[in-house]
Order: sequence, then C-alpha cells, then structure tokens
Amino acid sequence: MLNVPSQAFPAPGSQQRVASQGRSKVPLKQGRSLMDWIRLTKSGKDLTGLKGRLIEVTEEELKTHNKKDDCWICIRGLVYNVSPYMEYHPGGEDELMRAAGADGTDLFNEVHRWVNYESMLKECLVGRMAVKPAVPKGMLSKSQVTDTLPREGPSSPSYDWFQTESSVTIAIYTKQKNISLDSVMVDLQGDSLRTETFIQDHSYLIHIGLSHEVQENFSVRVIENVGKVDIVLQKRENISWKCLGQPLEKHDSFIPKKDTGLSYRRCQLISKEDVTHDTRLFCLMLPPSTHLQVPVGHHVYLKLSVTGAEIVKPYTPVSASLLSGFREPVPPPNKYIYFLIKIYPDGLFTPELDHLQIGDFISVSSPEGNFKLSKLQEVEDLFLLAAGTGFTPMVNVLNYALTCVSSLRKVKLMFFNKTEDDIIWRCELEKLAFKDKRFDTEFVLSAPSPEWNGKQGHVSPALLSEFLQRSLENSRVFLCICGPTAFTDEGIRLLHDLNFSNDEIHGFTA
Ligand code: FAD
Ligand code: NAP
Repeated sequence: MLNVPSQAFPAPGSQQRVASQGRSKVPLKQGRSLMDWIRLTKSGKDLTGLKGRLIEVTEEELKTHNKKDDCWICIRGLVYNVSPYMEYHPGGEDELMRAAGADGTDLFNEVHRWVNYESMLKECLVGRMAVKPAVPKGMLSKSQVTDTLPREGPSSPSYDWFQTESSVTIAIYTKQKNISLDSVMVDLQGDSLRTETFIQDHSYLIHIGLSHEVQENFSVRVIENVGKVDIVLQKRENISWKCLGQPLEKHDSFIPKKDTGLSYRRCQLISKEDVTHDTRLFCLMLPPSTHLQVPVGHHVYLKLSVTGAEIVKPYTPVSASLLSGFREPVPPPNKYIYFLIKIYPDGLFTPELDHLQIGDFISVSSPEGNFKLSKLQEVEDLFLLAAGTGFTPMVNVLNYALTCVSSLRKVKLMFFNKTEDDIIWRCELEKLAFKDKRFDTEFVLSAPSPEWNGKQGHVSPALLSEFLQRSLENSRVFLCICGPTAFTDEGIRLLHDLNFSNDEIHGFTA
C-alpha cells in the first residue's frame, strides 16, 4: 500500500498548517462553496466517470491518476476521484495534489480526521484498493479461511477491523452502492459472531469466534452510497485486542444465496391479538444480540417442534399497523417483528403456534424472497391484488410506496375474501384511504351475506378491467398479486390477457 510520510504533511508554510486561530484556508472561487459542492453531488452527475460501478484499484493504477484533471486518492483503503472536488477543497488544490495517485490516509488523519469524508466524497468513490494493508499481527488473515468466490455475479466483498479503547468495529466493504440496513444480518451468541451481508443474490458471511468477550448490544451502521457496513461491538474489558478471533465455518465466503442454509434465532412471543375471528397479530421480540430487518416483500420461516418433529412454514412480516402512530407506545424499530397469521383448526402448524403462551420462544429464520424494491422506483400507479392472508406482503409494499416513492400517484388494493368477517384490517384500510387520498381499497367477497352490497365473486376479467384504471393514459404501472396458488396463477393469466407484461407484475408464490 502506498504511503505518503506523515511528517511531510502539512508542508512547512502550507495552508493546511493549523494556526492557533485554526486552520487557514484558501479563498475559493465563486460558486465553489460547500453548499455548491453538496448541490453538485446531489445533481446525479457521474463524478467518477465509472457510471456508478465500483472497482478494485491496484497500486499501479492509482499511481497513474496523479494529475489535477485525473486525480485519485486513497483514504483508509477506499479510492476517490477527487478531480471534481479540487476547486471546492477549502485547503486548496495544491494540498489535495500532495496525495494525488497515492495513499493520503496519513495526510488526512493529521489535518482533518474529524471530517466526514465518506459522506462528502461518496459520489467520488471509485472503489477499494485491491491490496489490503499489511495484516496486523494476530489478525485473521485471508489465507486462514475458506474463500469461495463466485465465478460470476457481484465481486466479492472484503472486511477489515479496527478498535478503540472500548469498541471493536468490523468494516465490511460490499463494493456495491445502495445497500441498506436490511442487507445485513448479525447474530452474536457468546463469543461467536455471525454476520451475513446480502448483495444482489449473494451472501457474504463473516463467522468468527471472537478473541475477547463483548457486550450483548452492538450497533450496525450502513454508509449507503459507499457500500460500507460497520458493526460496532462494545468490549467487556478496555484492553487492546491483538487479533479479532478465529475463523469459524464458512467464514469470509461469498456464495449465491440459494446455496446458503437458513439460519435461525430464538424469538420470544410478546403479544398475540385477535384481528379477525381466525387471524391473529403475533409480536415476536428478537434477541438483543441480533440485527435482522426483513426487506419489503420478503418472508421468513418460523420453526416449531410439533410432536417431536421440527416443522417449518413461511410467513411474511408486517408493520405493527397500517397507520403510523396508530398504536401507542410505538416500540423501537428492529427489536420486534410482527406477523398476521390465520389459524387453521385442522392445520399442522398454526394450531401449535396458537397454543404458544406469552413469553414462549419460537425460531425465526433469515429472510428470503425475490421481490425487488427497485420495481417500485418511479412507479405512478400501483395495483395490489390480494386474497385472504395473501394480503400480508401487500402491507409493507403499501407502506413503502406511500412513504418512499415520490412519483406515486395512486395505489389501489382489490382484496378478495369469503365473507366480511374475514377481511383483515378492514378498519385500518378504510382509515388509510381516508387519510391518504392516493390510496383506495375495494373488497370483493366470494360468500357474502345477503346484506353485502359491495362487489362479489372471484377474480375475473370484468372485475380487473374496471379496477385497473390508470391515473394517466401511459402511466408507469406495477402490479402485485398474492393469495392461494390457484388465485395467483389465474390472476397473472388474466393480467397477461389485459396486456400487462411480466416486467409489470410480481406474483408472490411459494
Ligand atoms: P396446513 O396443514 O398447511 O393446512 C392448511 C389448510 O389446508 C387446512 O384447512 C387443511 O385442512 C388444508 N389442507 C392441508 N392439506 C390439504 C390437502 N392435501 N388437500 C386439501 N386441503 C388440505 N400465512 C399467514 O397466515 N400469514 C402469512 O404472513 C403467510 N405468509 C406466507 C408466505 C409465503 C411465502 C407462503 C408460501 C405462505 C405464507 N403463508 C402465510 C401460509 C403459511 O405458510 C401456511 O401455509 C399456513 O399458515 C397454513 O399452515 P398450517 O400448517 O397450519 O396448515
Ligand atoms: P381463503 O380465505 O381460502 O380465500 C381467500 C379468497 O380467495 C376467497 O374469496 C376465495 O374464494 C378466493 N379463492 C380461493 N381460491 C381461488 C381460486 N382458485 N380462484 C379464485 N379465487 C380463489 O384464503 P386463505 O385461507 O387466507 O389463504 C391464503 C393463501 O395465500 C394461502 O394459500 C397462503 O399460503 C397464501 N399466501 C402466500 C404468501 C406468499 O408470499 N406467497 C403470503 C401469504 C399468504 P372461495 O370462497 O371460493 O374459496
């Protein structure tokens, strides 16, 4: 790894020398203030010239980018193209050029360690140095561990660790922009740390027997646009660790998600509440030593022992309610996981689930699913078709669309049930439609009482063509469908007949 000697910086007489009144700065040209820089980074302009790709940079390549109009600098293992930033640098272009084509970490640390460069320069990120810095003595090294790099797909992430007196941070470099907190799962059991980072359809596993004890609580931070995940562990004793620990099974492996097994953690039943005559809202509490967030449209598996046999069934987490602030007090995020589950008296799994007492434990798996949130980006009309508990994946899709999709004009839910008594969260749906004018819901019953004056029947061309009215003639549309398999299959067939493409439809199936 290249290093610019720290004592050489700042140079005598440099603008970067810290004066007693503080660091002197060079006057910047008009239109080159911090706000101007922030505006530029948010403009969507490709500041690296790599069209959003992250690459591995060798020392040789880094050295070649050493001119003002082509200037790459490495800071703490990450390489930035700082040419677009030159004129905005408060310390001046010459100071920045001192680290051109080199590792500027020492310079940076001496002058402005406290500056949040990861955020300031995130749009300038080119990638990570291909060669890791020398491995500190005793630290887990790559040679000790299994390395199962995929032949195709995303490039393999890597990790590093560093410590302060009281904490140990494991930094995972995913080499992928736009990862989020639900891309990471962490379980800490005693001294065994297991983290999975989900990158496209792959999973990167860090599995370590830690060398020293840590506290149960830890924090997970994601620097989204840089693709970095920090897992911050709190030491039990404020002593310096010589190594992170020993590699455990499949540590440092990066394999297609379909080839990884499910991992389970024991969660406690906190509450159980009737929602309809046969459907309940179950609230489970994750262990304090787990970080798990299920991505929108994904599900988990619940595992119970039924007469000595382990039975596993899939369920889709929902939010605690459709209306934020509806339920008080609002529990802290990431600790609780909610499920709407219909109990079938003659079913195998759900009667056992229903017999669980508050305080009992049940195993919850890692998330699975193939729903892509990107499908909702820029959508204008979202149509949701649900039958029975097929409503469950719609809950988070609906919440996400209404809160995060700025292009959204309309969301419509057509909800099929046997009778009025079977409609899950009817009151919440009606309140939400009242509260948010973009949302509308229609109930269709297959076995209504004589008093019902709403829509009746099964999913059909007539019902769909009336329901699927766009807000604009050529609006960008997306449709989700979920329910009994035969319902979903029939619905998708009818949507194709109505000229919707596969790209516009997501069918939730087993
Ligand atoms: P089962 O034993 O499967 O029986 C269910 C019903 O089918 C009973 O009435 C039973 O008599 C009948 N039955 C069983 N076998 C037959 C047969 N051979 N012929 C005819 N009838 C039969 N459910 C939810 O409530 N909430 C959710 O969030 C949820 N999410 C899901 C997510 C996914 C991805 C999938 C695939 C399913 C989801 N489900 C959800 C359904 C759930 O996984 C179970 O299938 C459901 O809870 C039934 O489980 P059970 O073992 O109690 O019933
Ligand atoms: P249900 O009450 O039995 O049925 C709901 C509605 O769907 C009823 O009006 C029913 O009409 C209708 N329906 C059933 N079969 C149909 C078909 N072949 N064509 C058209 N309409 C049909 O449903 P449920 O017991 O809640 O079951 C929900 C299903 O959704 C389960 O199979 C579950 O596995 C599935 N699910 C899947 C996911 C996922 O992500 N993949 C998530 C949650 C739930 P009738 O009165 O004629 O029966």
